[in-house]
Amino acid sequence: MENNVEIPRIILPDGTAVPAVGQGTWNIGDSRAHVTSELSTLREGIDLGMSLIDTAEMYGNGASERLVGEAISGQRDRVFLVSKVYPHNASKLGVAKSCAASLKRLRTDYLDLYLLHWRGDYPLAETVEAFERLRAVGQIRYWGVSNFDTRDMMELGALPAGGRCATNQVLYHPEERGIEFSLLPWCQAHSMPVMAYSPLGQGGRLLRSQALITVARRHGATPGQIALAWCLRSGGVIAIPKASTVTHVRENAGAAAIKLTIEDLAEIEAAHTPPSFEAPLAML
Ligand code: NAP
Repeated sequence: MENNVEIPRIILPDGTAVPAVGQGTWNIGDSRAHVTSELSTLREGIDLGMSLIDTAEMYGNGASERLVGEAISGQRDRVFLVSKVYPHNASKLGVAKSCAASLKRLRTDYLDLYLLHWRGDYPLAETVEAFERLRAVGQIRYWGVSNFDTRDMMELGALPAGGRCATNQVLYHPEERGIEFSLLPWCQAHSMPVMAYSPLGQGGRLLRSQALITVARRHGATPGQIALAWCLRSGGVIAIPKASTVTHVRENAGAAAIKLTIEDLAEIEAAHTPPSFEAPLAML
């Protein structure tokens, strides 16, 4: 079943469709011993339709981008490629320089999406202007942000080109539901998908949640698949699980076929309650 699952699409503000399940790449490419398995995992993920790949200049000081570059070599046009600039490089010149270095490591001449990794000291207007310049010369197709809270999004939205922000990539999984209080509704109201990072809770405690285990049994699935299906439950969210084995990536693609019932959602909700007040945005 898992190999034939159609990955649902999520619509960016300009109408472009991207896969609702992509692939994260933090900690990938760090060790030569794992390269073969990591490459075949990423390529299998692309074949399964998880063709949105998320990386960053930060990951392994460029090692992740280099590995992604190798994985997508010869099939660049099948992939929606996302990378991120460090906040300390988010100046007018710094963005251009970082993007050029990322493109080189990724062996491509454009990024589909370029994100500000988290908010730093450079004025947002300067970073947005730098992103817009890259867009104008075709080095990026879209830009967005990461780890922005609701107030940051409002400030961004008020800039002249702020409406061009394609997404906000934030921590989101059943144990980290803080964005549901105001950030997710804000993004939904602006037709902007949220990109959920660490949707498997980094493979830790979340996957031992009794609620996820019980729901998984009902579906003949795994807790990880239920965590991903939960992220996808109402649209508008793109999940980017990271896997370094083919077994895991196949499982993650299979999650797209799981439709959680009202009973499933209630069981997860009872164990992992949604926020009842605005808390500072959780981030890793
Ligand atoms: P994650 O995707 O929640 O979890 C990754 C862990 O889960 C790995 O240990 C992986 O093991 C394991 N795993 C993968 N598929 C599984 C499955 N089907 N069943 C059980 N375990 C499974 O954590 P993450 O890497 O932190 O987050 C995903 C991506 O989001 C990152 O890779 C990165 O691209 C992005 N991210 C962005 C930010 C940001 O600040 N913008 C922060 C964190 C992450 P194996 O590796 O052994 O397969």
